[in-house]
Amino acid sequence: MLQQTRIPVVTERFTRFKQKFPDLWSLAEASWDEVFKEWEGLGYYSRARNMKRCAETIVRDYAGNFPAGYDELRKLPGIGEYTAAAVASIVYGEKVPLIDGNVKRVIARLYGITDDVRETKTEKKIRILLEEHLRTLPEEDTASFNVGIMELGEVLCLPNAKPLCEGCPLKDVCAAKKENRTREIPVLSPKKKRGIEQKTVLVIRDENAVYLEKRPEKGLLSGLYEPIMKEGHRTAEEVFSGLTDEGFEISEIVRLPDAVHVFSHKEWHMTGYLVRLRKEMKKDRIFRVTKEEESRYAIPSAFAAYREYFWNQEVRL
Ligand code: SF4
Repeated sequence: MLQQTRIPVVTERFTRFKQKFPDLWSLAEASWDEVFKEWEGLGYYSRARNMKRCAETIVRDYAGNFPAGYDELRKLPGIGEYTAAAVASIVYGEKVPLIDGNVKRVIARLYGITDDVRETKTEKKIRILLEEHLRTLPEEDTASFNVGIMELGEVLCLPNAKPLCEGCPLKDVCAAKKENRTREIPVLSPKKKRGIEQKTVLVIRDENAVYLEKRPEKGLLSGLYEPIMKEGHRTAEEVFSGLTDEGFEISEIVRLPDAVHVFSHKEWHMTGYLVRLRKEMKKDRIFRVTKEEESRYAIPSAFAAYREYFWNQEVRL
């Protein structure tokens, strides 16, 4: 949960999640809707998806025992290089390096590496250097070494040319410090710009319910529920004729405020409409959801700006 989410938010949600799913079995046996509902608002839903798949795998293939070694950990859904290395080295003392942004910065400065640290080949170089160090250490020091380098980056070897070298235990052997190049190292290529997608969000409702769709089982926010959404920014007339063609009988349409939701790799720029129907509508793959039923449907926070219009009768049409 702590990946990409702030500690104050996680603290309360983690406790709730643990109460709902106290062990691997309860998570493995839960329905997807239950898990997503418990994750609602935390974003990055692939983490929830992977955690459930991981629980299923451990219950099915490892009789419910969390595997210990790096190679076994890497086979589990959602456990990448970093997490496997963290668990294997910190919990079990296995000699595998732990590499995050802080570690890359420390090692690049320590050895005066001027290659782009976002490139895989530079990370490989850093990995080899760390492995050499780990080989010289007793097993019981693996965790302290890995955590120590990370902490050094977090506390002293700060980014943006502001390292606190005077207090650093490596200052006498650090290439960047000796050559006065801490401003230039690490070299970081600019991050890719996020793509922008335009969407039209339709809060369609009748007297007692709102209409939701389930997102596809693969891809962004897969398996979650959302208000009806169309590609591009549409005018009220386009919304009216499009929905009428789909069989909706519309009494009124009202424009809602625009909203933006930022994902790690893309942005949704949304325009919204509240659509009131003349009568209830039944349609394949569209869920008619009453207020009482809403708590069963996990709706991503991307739609937070429009969710208040699900039940807000103050909005005059
Ligand atoms: S001496 Fe300065 S630049 Fe070198 S590792 Fe320590 S804090 Fe970082």
